[in-house]
Parts: sequence; C-alpha cells; structure tokens
Amino acid sequence: MATATTVDVVPSFSAGQWRRDASARSGEVFNPSTGKLIARVPLATAAETGAVVRAAKAALADWAETPAVERARVMFQFRHLMAAKFEELAALVTREHGKTLAESRAEVQRGLEMVEFACSVPTMLMGDTLPNIAGGVDAETNRHPVGVCVGITPYNFPCMVPLWMIPVAIACGNTFVLKPSEKVPLSAVRLGELLEEAGLPAGVFNIVHGDKECVDTLLTHPDVAAISFVGSTAIAKYIYEVGTKHGKRVQAAGGAKNHLIIMPDADLDQSVKALAASAYGCAGQRCMAGSVAVAVGKIADPLVDELCSYAGNFKVGPTDGNEAVDMGPVIRAEHRDRVASYLDVAKQEGATVPLDGRRDFAGDGFLLGPSVVDRVEPKMRLAQEEIFGPVLSVVRADSLDAALEVGRNCPYGNGASIFTRDGYAAREFKHRFNAGMIGINVGVPAPMAWFPFTGWNQSFFGDLHIQGTESVHFYTRQKMTLTRWFKSSADSFQDPVWKTV
Ligand code: NAD
Repeated sequence: MATATTVDVVPSFSAGQWRRDASARSGEVFNPSTGKLIARVPLATAAETGAVVRAAKAALADWAETPAVERARVMFQFRHLMAAKFEELAALVTREHGKTLAESRAEVQRGLEMVEFACSVPTMLMGDTLPNIAGGVDAETNRHPVGVCVGITPYNFPCMVPLWMIPVAIACGNTFVLKPSEKVPLSAVRLGELLEEAGLPAGVFNIVHGDKECVDTLLTHPDVAAISFVGSTAIAKYIYEVGTKHGKRVQAAGGAKNHLIIMPDADLDQSVKALAASAYGCAGQRCMAGSVAVAVGKIADPLVDELCSYAGNFKVGPTDGNEAVDMGPVIRAEHRDRVASYLDVAKQEGATVPLDGRRDFAGDGFLLGPSVVDRVEPKMRLAQEEIFGPVLSVVRADSLDAALEVGRNCPYGNGASIFTRDGYAAREFKHRFNAGMIGINVGVPAPMAWFPFTGWNQSFFGDLHIQGTESVHFYTRQKMTLTRWFKSSADSFQDPVWKTV
C-alpha cells in the first residue's frame, strides 16, 4: 500500500516549468473507490502563489498581442489532443473522484465542448460599428483581454469545471492561474500537460495548488484582474466579497438545492428513472443534482414506492476499473458520514426514511447507497440545506402553486425541473419558478457550453455567468472608439453613393 512517503507529489506548473517542490504543508489525494492515498498535493504559501501570478503576468503582453485566430488555433490543437486522450482523462476523473466511468466520460465530453466553443472566439470577439453616428463620425467597439485571470475550482468536476474557464479565458487573450481543488488535482495537471503539448507559450497557463492561504493571496493580489470560482455557497460569497473589494471582476458559482416537481399526470416510470438519475448520478455530488422531489397530489404514494424499489436495486460499488456499477463512492469518508447523518436529522425532524443507503459495503471505499426521505416539510433542514450526496427528499404538495412556493422559500436557485404532460403547467413553472435553469421533463437541466450557466440567488454571486457569450464578456473588456477625419483642402471626393443613384 502507498504511504505518505512513497506516493507522488502533484506538480505545480508555472512559467512553463513543472515543479515538485517540497512544500511545508501538503494535502492528501485519495482514490475514493479503494480509500487509498494516491498522491500528496503541496499547499502553496503566499510567496509561492505570488510567484505563479508573476509568471502569468510576464506572459500576458505577448499573448494578448497574439492574433485571436492563432490563439484559437492552439485551442483546436488542444481539442484534438483531448479527444485522443478521452478515455485516459475519463479514467483519471474516476480514479481521483470516484464517479462511474460513464459519468466521467460525460464530464470530459462537456469539458471538450467548452474547448470547441472557445475555438470560435475570433467571431465572438468582433465588435460593433456604426458609421456616421454623428456627422462624419464613426463609432466602434472592440474587446480586449482583462489581464491575469484566476480559476478556483471544486472537487466534484475535476476536468469539466476547470474547462468552464481555461479555454475561453485563454482564447480571449488572457493568461490564467488555476487553483484546482486540493482533493482532485490530478485531472487539472493532465489538462496542463495537454495545453503545453498543444503549443501554448510558457506562462499563459499555470497551476498552483493550495488551500485558504493560496486562495487569499490570489483574491488580493494586485496583478490579478478577474476571478472565476465554483464551489460551496459560503466560500463563493466570501470570494465575491473579498475579490470585488480588491477591485477584481468576480463570477462565483455556489451550492444548490434543486427541485424536481412531479405533476399528477406525469409518466410514472419515466419520471422515476429521471429522478433517480438526477438525484443519485455522481452519488448526488452535482450542483445540478435534483435533491428535493415535490410530488403534487395523488402521484406521491406510487412515486415513493417506485423510487425506493428502483433505487434500492442500484449496484453501488467501487468504480475504478469497474464499469458494472450504477453508483460510485462519495469523495471522502467524512463526507459520507456527514451525508448519512442527514438521515438521522430527517427522523428527528419528523420525516420518514423509506430507503436508507447505509449498508455494510465490502472494502474501504467511501460508499453509501441511495436514500429516499419522505414527508419532508419545506422548512426542514432536509429541504433547506445542500446535502451533496445520494439523498432525495420528498415534499408532498397539493397543487402546482404549493410546489412553486417550496422553491420561493429556498435560499438557492440553480436548477429546477417539472415532469408533466400539461403544457400550461409547464409554462407556468418555466415562467414562475425561482431558479435560473429550468427543465421540462429533463432531470438535469445543465446548459451546454454555448449557453450560460445561469444560477440565481445564493447559487451565484456576480453578474456575468460562466459558459456561452457571457463568459466571453466576463473575460474581456470593451473599448469604444469614436473616429473623425477632417477633410483637407487637397481632398476631393464624390458625394456618397446614395446621393448619386
Ligand atoms: P468548496 O467550496 O469546499 O471548495 C471549492 C474551492 O474553494 C476549492 O478549490 C477549495 O480549495 C477552496 N476553498 C475551500 N475553503 C476555502 C476557504 N475557507 N477559503 C478560501 N478557499 C477555500 O467546494 P467543494 O466541496 O470542493 O465542491 C462542492 C460544492 O461546489 C458544492 O456546494 C456544489 O454545489 C458546488 N458546485 C457548484 C457549481 C455551480 O455551478 N453552481 C458547480 C459545481 C460545484
């Protein structure tokens, strides 16, 4: 078995150099399927973090001046390399995160699409023009890079979430410092290697590993222009407040509690499968996981029965090198215990637990089966707090209005879905539900690269969202130019075309 002294130290990357510095402090990376330590990650000091920002600053002027089509060409090559290493990347995500290989493939695919989106950046950087906005005066806007950009990412999408940021920021002419989750730094390192192989000049992309000390240095560093964050709400709010106080542009995506409304006319079989996929996919560790089912009217009893029997048959087990499982482990033993503790909270609060995921699993993986908690009231902790594990709370409501009210009283606002055959109910839901991403008969309404990831309320702090053209706007600043040329006595031109026709 690997011990603290025999496992690899995860390298950091700056100014085109991979470094395995012995850091005074380090964190542990586990394989959640086996519970074994697989690497140690250095936790950078403020001085080490500052050096990485300096490397990104040093590379900025040349990269910002590199023509947009040449920058995009690097992204085309990166896309080609990612596609060639697709299976390797998926296996790496599964190894350090624990999600199933099918889920890892889906994650890598979503990340790849962000690179494809970034390949079209020259078109998206085009400005607007209006000739003759005043007599003899032309107006135009251009988009310029903002400078050194920072990405701080969570553990639940080790490959996709860094790729929500890196390709667009870089293609727009910025340089980038990534601070990946210290729980899953290996996928980020592999992406860095592929970016290097794709021909990205030294210093344009950099990786620093760390925790609060490192993050606080990035948040306050005078050479950092913009910060993209994805993680829990408490930290997202902190990042937004400290970053903006220090004059940076910040987009900070936080936690979530996503509602799945099942109307009495919904197809029971299809709804159960969609609910289970939404609640238990990635072992519930998705910011778009459906974690509260709101059953409207008479569908509640059959829905709970069917859900328990369907999810109760899930094959739960280690995922690393093993495709024959429906659900893998959660990220850490402590996280598994925290998630499981909500099943006790549920009973204390007066809810029932018709499916309890606590079982004696073989091996040392961080496993927990799917759970269903029934008769949850909207004010209970089970309905209000992000559990981030395979626990689905069922709230019973007697009307669509009552279901909408459940959403209105929840502090988050990432996603919500309705299952129905009734167009009017779907339309009302789409228009009135208190969340930024809506699904109609879709369990996980996560937008793809070309559309923004529009979390609301405590699920997002900032203005411009991640993904889509909003991300191009986040990573650029506009310059507006008014131009007037004076006619000299030597100039002689004919009248404008329209005067001569
Ligand atoms: P987290 O907030 O614990 O960590 C996210 C990042 O912040 C990590 O890089 C971590 O090192 C850093 N960090 C942690 N504590 C810090 C502190 N005190 N000061 C400064 N930096 C700190 O989140 P996590 O547990 O890694 O990820 C899960 C969370 O991310 C869930 O809440 C999930 O909903 C959320 N998430 C949101 C989205 C979204 O788009 N809204 C997407 C994915 C994940």
